Amino acid sequence: MTTIGILGAGQLGRMLALAGYPLGMRFRFLDPASDSPAGLLAEHLAFDYSDKSALERFASGVDVITYEFENVPVQAACFLERFAPVYPPPIALEKAQDRFVEKSFLCQLGIPTPVFIADFENGQVSKIGFPAVLKTRRMGYDGKGQIIVRSEPDLKLELMNGNNDQLILEEFIQFERELSIIGVRNKAGETKYYPLVENHHRDGILRLSLLRGNVSEKLQREAEEYAAKVMSALDYVGVLAIEFFEKDGRLLANEMAPRVHNSGHWTIEGAITSQFENHLRAVSDSPLGSTDPLGVCALVNLIGSLPDVKSILKIDGAHLHLYDKSPRPKRKIGHVTLVENDTETLMKKLELVKEIVYVP
Ligand code: AMP
Repeated sequence: MTTIGILGAGQLGRMLALAGYPLGMRFRFLDPASDSPAGLLAEHLAFDYSDKSALERFASGVDVITYEFENVPVQAACFLERFAPVYPPPIALEKAQDRFVEKSFLCQLGIPTPVFIADFENGQVSKIGFPAVLKTRRMGYDGKGQIIVRSEPDLKLELMNGNNDQLILEEFIQFERELSIIGVRNKAGETKYYPLVENHHRDGILRLSLLRGNVSEKLQREAEEYAAKVMSALDYVGVLAIEFFEKDGRLLANEMAPRVHNSGHWTIEGAITSQFENHLRAVSDSPLGSTDPLGVCALVNLIGSLPDVKSILKIDGAHLHLYDKSPRPKRKIGHVTLVENDTETLMKKLELVKEIVYVP
């Protein structure tokens, strides 16, 4: 029996546990929030990540430790390595927690990104042009901590608020599409990739992911090559997601997540092995499962408020997932997955979901 310790007990932790129970795994969570979505499914220690005695208790008796969000303090992950292996390796957290460090790392590996700067002096701003996107280097997610600046005076106004060493300015990409890849690597170095999905955001929050056979082999190869570079550079173990902008037939990396990813929730019903199961296989030193899709898929996030659940369940083939979170504006509280044999049926079913759930 493998016991897995998971830092963070949100919906991603909950779906990891749900994927691991059939494999005979046991789980323990550490998350400061006492009402976390994974808390009902397994032992949950509600302590701060900086509480060393809680970390020790959490680690005692677990075979391996992983995490479900990338803002776990690196010090906590490193401290835990004294007690059990921590996967993905804490260096992945270090790279992903700061947008400037992350983009610099991707560039060093030869992975294209939007042009970016973190130095607002010495004429650097002229490299970017306007409009541009000003983001906090740390703790930004779901569109939080970022604004579009349209002119130099606009930018100056923003910079007057201080903490400029904590900001990054990026070229605004007029992209054709947003795509993401999910890769997985186990301890033996075996790697697998899910097909690229097309992502639709609103206010920086993912609303809809689509897998409908409209991504070229070339883009898929390019994305796999980039994910392979990141995983091999970090001696990575676990699931890794990279989000891209597609522009003029090329991929520009926007960010990476060293964890299971929202744009991969379709894999629960839509792939032979889900991203959650493959993450658990990878961190428990097991062979990976096939990442082949079972059809064309749509993933619709339920955000802010709960739609009429019975109407969703009435749609033939709609898979509903609720995370046991109380509704709040901009909060992800569940998702719906559709898996069909052909795109036409998928899009018809998606229209039915759209009558119940707001999808941009
Ligand atoms: P992020 O927090 O970096 O994942 O950004 C959230 C969303 O904002 C992305 O999925 C894009 O839709 C948009 N966005 C972020 N950066 C840029 C950019 N440099 N150019 C255009 N859109 C962006």
